[in-house]
Amino acid sequence: MQGLMMDYQLTMDRILEHGNRQHPRKEISTMLPNGSMHRYTYADMYRRVKRLSKALVKLGIEPGDRVATFAWNNYQHLELYYAIPGAGAVCHTLNIRLFPEQLSYIVDHAEDQIVFIDATLLPLYERIAHQITCVKHYVLLNAPPGTETKLRNVLYYEDLIADSDEDFEWRSTDENMAMGLCYTSGTTGNPKGALYSHRSMFLHTMGENSSSALGIRESDVVLPVVPQFHAMAWGLPYACVMSGAGMVMPGPHLKPEPLADMIANERVTIAAGVPSIWTALYHELKQNPRDISSMRATVVGGSAMPRALIVAYEQELNIPVVHAWGMTELSPLGTVSLLLGQHQDLSDDEKWDVKAKQGYAVPGVEMRIVDLDNKELPWDGQQMGELQVRGPWVIRQYFKRDITDDYMTEDGWFRTGDVSTIDENGIMTITDRTKDLVKSGGEWISSVELENELMAHPQVMEAAVIAVPDEKWSERPLAAVVPTPDGHNLTEADLKAFLSTRVAKFWIPETILFVEEIPKTSVGKFSKQTLRKMYAAGQLQ
Ligand code: ADP
Repeated sequence: MQGLMMDYQLTMDRILEHGNRQHPRKEISTMLPNGSMHRYTYADMYRRVKRLSKALVKLGIEPGDRVATFAWNNYQHLELYYAIPGAGAVCHTLNIRLFPEQLSYIVDHAEDQIVFIDATLLPLYERIAHQITCVKHYVLLNAPPGTETKLRNVLYYEDLIADSDEDFEWRSTDENMAMGLCYTSGTTGNPKGALYSHRSMFLHTMGENSSSALGIRESDVVLPVVPQFHAMAWGLPYACVMSGAGMVMPGPHLKPEPLADMIANERVTIAAGVPSIWTALYHELKQNPRDISSMRATVVGGSAMPRALIVAYEQELNIPVVHAWGMTELSPLGTVSLLLGQHQDLSDDEKWDVKAKQGYAVPGVEMRIVDLDNKELPWDGQQMGELQVRGPWVIRQYFKRDITDDYMTEDGWFRTGDVSTIDENGIMTITDRTKDLVKSGGEWISSVELENELMAHPQVMEAAVIAVPDEKWSERPLAAVVPTPDGHNLTEADLKAFLSTRVAKFWIPETILFVEEIPKTSVGKFSKQTLRKMYAAGQLQ
């Protein structure tokens, strides 16, 4: 086998070296906490990453150690995405929106040695610091001089970089070393850690950048609204550098107004985030139009993109929507709903039907659906089963946990916990998460589809459906609806009449409640768990 190209290691430093060599003048801009823009180039980033990697080694970081981040999307967080793996360590992104007890559990479970903290988030972190014993150093980013903190062993990010130099050999010498760690948000039990290797993330980056997936180009300017603490910002910090795209980092500014400003002022071509971000941005853009003609795609995932919102973006705002499905456990990209050659002659309506589905497996990912006995189901677009996947960037086990059949089949497929159909053309449609399906009288009702139908009503901004216990049917759907600003006259009867032409009769919820907002999870998805708790506590009337 000698002479085969087997020794080229697929590591993150290669991506960074490539970006620096090929696109040194490419710009990365960040909206700072005070609203001004910080701008620098790939070459600037490269030099700072080298210094930072070296500083980490000087601080005693050993290969495989976990180094955590607690930060918004900004240029420093981007540097950490490369510097930590470049030092041979594992970049563990902490979700700033988790409950304190979940956060301290995660830091402890990961045995984080250093935590990099955005100074704007200090009060959040200080709440849990007393419970944590594993951390040797805290490093503050964006800390104005004189910042006071209760934390001990505090260092300053800019000091670390200033006191270091660029004479450093990457410590990521083996593609099988771990490079990233991300915990799921833990809707059931304690959060579980998905550990990525250099190799898996490198291949994910190639897959994400293929034309069958997001196909990011050098000419793109990418705005990752999806936080760097949510599934590695969907891999965009690596995909952009690999393709040489410009980047716009929103910092803490995730409200629709600054996002719309950034898109217009920075001439953003691709923005990525969960549907709730796009709902809010749509209303902002309708009320206060901006020049958003630079946009060539908005990438949406994390939960189902309502069809009506796809239509609103494509028809009214002229921004194409790319709908993707993924999971933290898949690094995260699994499928992308792109139109194929065979779809080109379809009507707009038919195209939107395709785009509302979750789409085709990204090259590298294999998928199948199975019944309750783990028997494979046909791809006929009708039969629903548990979706299972495998591939080079799908985890094989959770960090520091035993493999159990709850999430891995005997023959090596990862059980997603999603229920879906796959049609003859290989298009996958998520029907629900297993635990969110409504089981009514022996039939399944898809909460996702019901929500989509409700959100197709022009006066509905958001809708979430949960199963509630029912004596006769065992479970029935209950819908919570947020009307649009001009929808204050909307009634339950209007919505039932609207649904009656769109779904089977037994799907129509007996109860449709109007609420001010749908509670959201730490990553901006509808929190059905909170809704269920509110219902059980009699708070949803
Ligand atoms: P969490 O478990 O913390 O929500 P993830 O972001 O990893 O973390 O969630 C993955 C899940 O999100 C998937 O299993 C699926 O249920 C849901 N999901 C992701 N993208 C989509 C999509 N495009 N349509 C429907 N559901 C989606």
